Amino acid sequence: MSYLCSDCPRECGAVRNEYTGEGFCGAGEKIAVAKIMRHMWEEPVLSTGNGTENIFIYGCNLGCVYCQNYKINGSLRTSELPPLTYLTPAEFGELLVERSETGADTVGIVTGDHYIRQIAEAITPDVKKRIKTPLVFNMSGYSKPETIALLKGKIDIFMPDFKYVSEKPAREYSQAPDYPARAAETIKKCFEMTGPATFDEKTYLMKSGVIIRHLILPGWFRNTAGVIDFVNENFRPDEVVFSLMSQYTPMNSIPEISSNPRLSRRISAVEHKAAIDYLCACENITMCFCQDRASSSEEFIPDFDGSETFQ
Ligand code: SF4
Repeated sequence: MSYLCSDCPRECGAVRNEYTGEGFCGAGEKIAVAKIMRHMWEEPVLSTGNGTENIFIYGCNLGCVYCQNYKINGSLRTSELPPLTYLTPAEFGELLVERSETGADTVGIVTGDHYIRQIAEAITPDVKKRIKTPLVFNMSGYSKPETIALLKGKIDIFMPDFKYVSEKPAREYSQAPDYPARAAETIKKCFEMTGPATFDEKTYLMKSGVIIRHLILPGWFRNTAGVIDFVNENFRPDEVVFSLMSQYTPMNSIPEISSNPRLSRRISAVEHKAAIDYLCACENITMCFCQDRASSSEEFIPDFDGSETFQ
Protein backbone atom coordinates (compact mmCIF):
# COMPACT_ATOMS: atom_id res chain seq x y z
CA MET A 1 0.00 0.00 0.00
CA SER A 2 1.49 3.36 -0.98
CA TYR A 3 1.45 6.52 1.15
CA LEU A 4 2.35 10.20 0.91
CA CYS A 5 5.55 11.02 2.77
CA SER A 6 6.41 14.12 4.78
CA ASP A 7 8.53 12.26 7.29
CA CYS A 8 11.67 14.40 7.03
CA PRO A 9 12.25 18.16 6.69
CA ARG A 10 12.07 17.92 2.88
CA GLU A 11 8.31 17.43 3.37
CA CYS A 12 7.90 16.22 -0.19
CA GLY A 13 4.32 15.07 0.32
CA ALA A 14 5.21 12.56 -2.38
CA VAL A 15 3.88 9.10 -2.99
CA ARG A 16 5.97 6.12 -1.81
CA ASN A 17 5.21 2.86 -3.55
CA GLU A 18 6.49 -0.61 -2.72
CA TYR A 19 10.09 -0.16 -3.97
CA THR A 20 10.53 3.48 -4.97
CA GLY A 21 8.92 6.84 -4.36
CA GLU A 22 8.52 10.23 -5.96
CA GLY A 23 10.19 12.19 -3.15
CA PHE A 24 13.71 13.64 -2.90
CA CYS A 25 15.13 10.38 -1.51
CA GLY A 26 13.29 8.17 -3.97
CA ALA A 27 12.60 5.64 -1.21
CA GLY A 28 9.61 3.37 -1.34
CA GLU A 29 7.93 1.47 1.44
CA LYS A 30 10.24 -1.53 1.62
CA ILE A 31 13.62 -0.93 3.26
CA ALA A 32 16.43 -1.14 0.69
CA VAL A 33 19.47 -2.83 2.24
CA ALA A 34 22.75 -2.35 0.35
CA LYS A 35 25.23 -4.25 2.48
CA ILE A 36 25.83 -5.97 5.78
CA MET A 37 29.32 -6.07 7.17
CA ARG A 38 31.21 -6.27 10.42
CA HIS A 39 32.81 -2.91 11.12
CA MET A 40 35.81 -2.90 13.46
CA TRP A 41 36.52 0.84 13.45
CA GLU A 42 33.44 2.44 14.93
CA GLU A 43 33.85 4.50 18.12
CA PRO A 44 35.56 2.33 20.80
CA VAL A 45 32.52 2.49 23.11
CA LEU A 46 30.57 0.52 20.48
CA SER A 47 32.85 -2.49 20.60
CA THR A 48 34.92 -4.42 23.09
CA GLY A 49 36.76 -6.15 20.27
CA ASN A 50 34.06 -7.95 18.32
CA GLY A 51 32.98 -4.98 16.21
CA THR A 52 29.64 -3.62 15.09
CA GLU A 53 27.43 -5.55 12.73
CA ASN A 54 26.44 -2.76 10.37
CA ILE A 55 23.40 -2.85 8.11
CA PHE A 56 23.86 -0.24 5.38
CA ILE A 57 20.64 1.23 4.05
CA TYR A 58 20.51 2.47 0.46
CA GLY A 59 19.60 6.08 -0.30
CA CYS A 60 19.54 9.21 1.82
CA ASN A 61 17.35 12.23 2.43
CA LEU A 62 20.38 14.52 2.40
CA GLY A 63 22.63 13.36 -0.45
CA CYS A 64 25.79 15.35 0.38
CA VAL A 65 28.00 15.83 -2.69
CA TYR A 66 31.09 14.63 -0.83
CA CYS A 67 29.45 11.57 0.75
CA GLN A 68 32.03 8.91 1.64
CA ASN A 69 29.45 6.22 0.88
CA TYR A 70 28.36 7.89 -2.35
CA LYS A 71 27.82 4.54 -4.06
CA ILE A 72 24.80 3.94 -1.85
CA ASN A 73 23.49 7.44 -1.12
CA GLY A 74 21.72 8.07 -4.43
CA SER A 75 18.07 8.12 -5.29
CA LEU A 76 16.27 4.80 -5.57
CA ARG A 77 14.72 6.02 -8.81
CA THR A 78 17.98 5.84 -10.73
CA SER A 79 18.45 2.94 -13.13
CA GLU A 80 22.02 2.28 -11.96
CA LEU A 81 21.40 0.73 -8.58
CA PRO A 82 23.85 -1.64 -6.88
CA PRO A 83 22.46 -5.03 -5.83
CA LEU A 84 19.84 -4.34 -3.15
CA THR A 85 17.56 -6.42 -0.97
CA TYR A 86 14.15 -4.94 -0.22
CA LEU A 87 12.64 -5.88 3.14
CA THR A 88 9.27 -5.37 4.77
CA PRO A 89 9.37 -4.05 8.35
CA ALA A 90 8.68 -7.59 9.64
CA GLU A 91 11.61 -8.98 7.61
CA PHE A 92 13.87 -6.13 8.73
CA GLY A 93 12.99 -6.83 12.36
CA GLU A 94 14.04 -10.47 11.95
CA LEU A 95 17.26 -9.33 10.26
CA LEU A 96 18.11 -7.20 13.31
CA VAL A 97 17.52 -10.16 15.62
CA GLU A 98 19.61 -12.46 13.43
CA ARG A 99 22.55 -10.03 13.15
CA SER A 100 22.54 -9.51 16.92
CA GLU A 101 23.29 -13.24 17.26
CA THR A 102 26.49 -13.14 15.20
CA GLY A 103 28.85 -12.30 18.07
CA ALA A 104 29.20 -8.57 17.38
CA ASP A 105 29.14 -6.22 20.34
CA THR A 106 26.55 -3.92 18.75
CA VAL A 107 24.27 -3.84 15.73
CA GLY A 108 24.15 -0.65 13.66
CA ILE A 109 21.57 0.64 11.22
CA VAL A 110 23.54 2.96 8.97
CA THR A 111 21.76 6.08 7.74
CA GLY A 112 18.13 5.11 7.69
CA ASP A 113 16.64 8.58 8.21
CA HIS A 114 14.39 8.11 5.18
CA TYR A 115 13.01 4.82 6.59
CA ILE A 116 12.38 5.82 10.23
CA ARG A 117 8.68 5.00 9.98
CA GLN A 118 9.42 1.49 8.65
CA ILE A 119 12.27 0.87 11.11
CA ALA A 120 10.02 1.87 14.01
CA GLU A 121 7.42 -0.61 12.76
CA ALA A 122 10.11 -3.30 12.45
CA ILE A 123 11.20 -3.04 16.09
CA THR A 124 8.14 -4.46 17.80
CA PRO A 125 8.31 -5.19 21.57
CA ASP A 126 8.96 -8.86 20.71
CA VAL A 127 11.78 -8.00 18.26
CA LYS A 128 13.31 -5.57 20.75
CA LYS A 129 13.30 -8.24 23.43
CA ARG A 130 15.09 -10.70 21.13
CA ILE A 131 17.84 -8.31 19.96
CA LYS A 132 20.83 -9.37 22.03
CA THR A 133 23.09 -6.31 21.69
CA PRO A 134 22.67 -2.54 21.97
CA LEU A 135 21.05 -1.25 18.79
CA VAL A 136 22.68 1.80 17.20
CA PHE A 137 20.96 4.14 14.77
CA ASN A 138 23.45 6.08 12.64
CA MET A 139 21.72 9.17 11.21
CA SER A 140 22.40 12.13 8.93
CA GLY A 141 20.81 14.41 11.52
CA TYR A 142 18.29 15.84 9.05
CA SER A 143 15.04 14.75 10.62
CA LYS A 144 11.90 15.93 12.38
CA PRO A 145 11.33 15.47 16.13
CA GLU A 146 7.88 13.96 15.59
CA THR A 147 9.33 11.34 13.23
CA ILE A 148 12.24 10.46 15.51
CA ALA A 149 9.75 10.10 18.35
CA LEU A 150 8.48 6.96 16.58
CA LEU A 151 11.75 5.29 17.67
CA LYS A 152 11.27 5.95 21.38
CA GLY A 153 12.20 2.85 23.39
CA LYS A 154 13.32 1.01 20.24
CA ILE A 155 16.83 2.35 19.66
CA ASP A 156 19.46 2.21 22.40
CA ILE A 157 22.10 4.51 20.93
CA PHE A 158 21.37 7.35 18.52
CA MET A 159 24.38 8.42 16.48
CA PRO A 160 23.36 11.58 14.60
CA ASP A 161 25.78 13.60 12.51
CA PHE A 162 25.97 17.33 13.10
CA LYS A 163 27.45 18.36 9.77
CA TYR A 164 26.90 22.11 9.60
CA VAL A 165 26.02 25.06 11.78
CA SER A 166 26.50 27.30 8.75
CA GLU A 167 23.80 27.67 6.12
CA LYS A 168 26.26 28.11 3.25
CA PRO A 169 27.77 24.60 3.18
CA ALA A 170 24.39 23.10 4.09
CA ARG A 171 22.88 24.68 0.99
CA GLU A 172 25.85 24.18 -1.29
CA TYR A 173 26.73 20.58 -0.41
CA SER A 174 23.41 19.10 0.76
CA GLN A 175 20.65 21.28 -0.71
CA ALA A 176 19.41 21.77 2.84
CA PRO A 177 19.82 25.35 4.09
CA ASP A 178 17.67 24.50 7.14
CA TYR A 179 20.03 21.65 8.14
CA PRO A 180 21.64 23.56 11.08
CA ALA A 181 18.31 24.14 12.86
CA ARG A 182 16.95 20.70 11.98
CA ALA A 183 20.04 18.86 13.17
CA ALA A 184 20.01 20.77 16.46
CA GLU A 185 16.36 19.75 17.00
CA THR A 186 17.12 16.16 16.02
CA ILE A 187 19.99 15.85 18.47
CA LYS A 188 17.99 17.37 21.31
CA LYS A 189 15.11 15.00 20.62
CA CYS A 190 17.42 11.97 20.59
CA PHE A 191 18.85 13.03 23.95
CA GLU A 192 15.39 13.63 25.38
CA MET A 193 14.52 10.02 24.51
CA THR A 194 17.67 8.27 25.78
CA GLY A 195 18.88 10.51 28.59
CA PRO A 196 22.59 10.69 29.50
CA ALA A 197 24.91 8.00 28.14
CA THR A 198 25.20 4.75 30.10
CA PHE A 199 27.96 2.16 29.89
CA ASP A 200 28.63 -1.38 31.02
CA GLU A 201 30.58 -1.01 34.26
CA LYS A 202 33.15 -3.67 33.37
CA THR A 203 33.62 -3.37 29.61
CA TYR A 204 32.66 0.30 29.06
CA LEU A 205 30.51 -0.82 26.14
CA MET A 206 27.92 1.88 25.63
CA LYS A 207 24.43 0.70 26.52
CA SER A 208 22.35 3.78 25.74
CA GLY A 209 22.62 7.45 24.88
CA VAL A 210 23.70 9.75 22.07
CA ILE A 211 26.94 9.95 20.11
CA ILE A 212 27.21 13.15 18.07
CA ARG A 213 29.49 12.82 15.07
CA HIS A 214 31.10 15.63 13.12
CA LEU A 215 33.23 15.20 10.02
CA ILE A 216 35.78 18.01 9.64
CA LEU A 217 35.59 19.40 6.12
CA PRO A 218 38.63 21.05 4.53
CA GLY A 219 38.49 24.84 4.69
CA TRP A 220 35.53 24.99 7.09
CA PHE A 221 37.13 25.47 10.51
CA ARG A 222 34.48 27.96 11.65
CA ASN A 223 31.77 25.42 10.90
CA THR A 224 33.58 22.79 12.97
CA ALA A 225 34.09 25.26 15.82
CA GLY A 226 30.36 26.11 15.71
CA VAL A 227 29.38 22.45 16.00
CA ILE A 228 31.71 22.01 18.98
CA ASP A 229 30.22 25.16 20.56
CA PHE A 230 26.72 23.72 20.13
CA VAL A 231 27.62 20.55 22.01
CA ASN A 232 29.50 22.45 24.72
CA GLU A 233 26.64 24.88 25.26
CA ASN A 234 23.73 22.42 25.15
CA PHE A 235 25.00 19.48 27.18
CA ARG A 236 26.62 19.02 30.55
CA PRO A 237 29.69 16.87 31.28
CA ASP A 238 29.18 13.11 30.76
CA GLU A 239 25.81 13.51 29.05
CA VAL A 240 26.71 12.79 25.41
CA VAL A 241 29.68 11.38 23.53
CA PHE A 242 31.23 13.58 20.85
CA SER A 243 33.13 12.09 17.93
CA LEU A 244 35.35 14.34 15.83
CA MET A 245 36.06 12.66 12.52
CA SER A 246 39.04 13.39 10.33
CA GLN A 247 38.49 10.75 7.67
CA TYR A 248 37.26 13.10 4.94
CA THR A 249 38.47 11.55 1.69
CA PRO A 250 38.00 13.54 -1.54
CA MET A 251 36.18 11.51 -4.16
CA ASN A 252 38.06 13.13 -7.02
CA SER A 253 36.50 10.83 -9.60
CA ILE A 254 33.36 13.00 -9.13
CA PRO A 255 33.68 16.26 -11.15
CA GLU A 256 31.82 18.28 -8.49
CA ILE A 257 34.53 17.28 -6.01
CA SER A 258 37.65 17.52 -8.18
CA SER A 259 36.66 21.03 -9.34
CA ASN A 260 35.92 22.29 -5.81
CA PRO A 261 38.93 24.05 -4.24
CA ARG A 262 37.87 23.03 -0.74
CA LEU A 263 36.46 19.53 -1.22
CA SER A 264 39.18 18.25 -3.55
CA ARG A 265 41.76 17.90 -0.78
CA ARG A 266 42.10 16.18 2.58
CA ILE A 267 42.15 18.25 5.75
CA SER A 268 45.59 19.59 6.60
CA ALA A 269 47.60 18.85 9.74
CA VAL A 270 47.01 22.46 10.83
CA GLU A 271 43.24 22.13 10.42
CA HIS A 272 43.27 18.83 12.30
CA LYS A 273 45.23 20.26 15.23
CA ALA A 274 43.14 23.44 15.36
CA ALA A 275 39.92 21.41 15.65
CA ILE A 276 41.34 19.16 18.38
CA ASP A 277 42.71 22.13 20.33
CA TYR A 278 39.34 23.86 20.11
CA LEU A 279 37.57 20.73 21.34
CA CYS A 280 39.99 20.20 24.21
CA ALA A 281 39.23 23.69 25.55
CA CYS A 282 35.53 22.81 26.06
CA GLU A 283 34.79 21.98 29.67
CA ASN A 284 31.39 20.37 29.05
CA ILE A 285 32.62 17.88 26.45
CA THR A 286 34.15 15.21 28.65
CA MET A 287 33.55 12.09 26.55
CA CYS A 288 35.01 12.42 23.09
CA PHE A 289 36.93 10.65 20.37
CA CYS A 290 39.20 12.21 17.77
CA GLN A 291 40.24 10.32 14.67
CA ASP A 292 43.83 10.34 13.55
CA ARG A 293 44.45 12.11 10.23
CA ALA A 294 45.63 8.77 8.80
CA SER A 295 41.95 7.70 8.83
CA SER A 296 41.54 9.69 5.63
CA SER A 297 41.87 6.84 3.17
CA GLU A 298 39.69 5.00 0.70
CA GLU A 299 40.78 1.80 2.49
CA PHE A 300 38.23 2.61 5.20
CA ILE A 301 35.32 3.02 2.81
CA PRO A 302 33.34 -0.17 2.25
CA ASP A 303 32.78 -1.50 -1.25
CA PHE A 304 29.16 -1.57 -2.27
CA ASP A 305 29.39 -4.12 -5.03
CA GLY A 306 26.93 -6.64 -3.64
CA SER A 307 29.61 -8.69 -1.88
CA GLU A 308 29.19 -9.45 1.81
CA THR A 309 25.48 -8.83 1.62
CA PHE A 310 23.33 -11.37 3.42
CA GLN A 311 26.09 -13.89 4.07
S1 SF4 B 1 11.78 10.78 3.66
FE1 SF4 B 1 12.12 11.01 1.43
S2 SF4 B 1 10.06 11.16 0.52
FE2 SF4 B 1 9.83 11.50 2.74
S3 SF4 B 1 9.89 13.72 2.99
FE3 SF4 B 1 12.00 12.99 3.27
S4 SF4 B 1 12.99 13.08 1.24
FE4 SF4 B 1 10.76 13.26 0.95
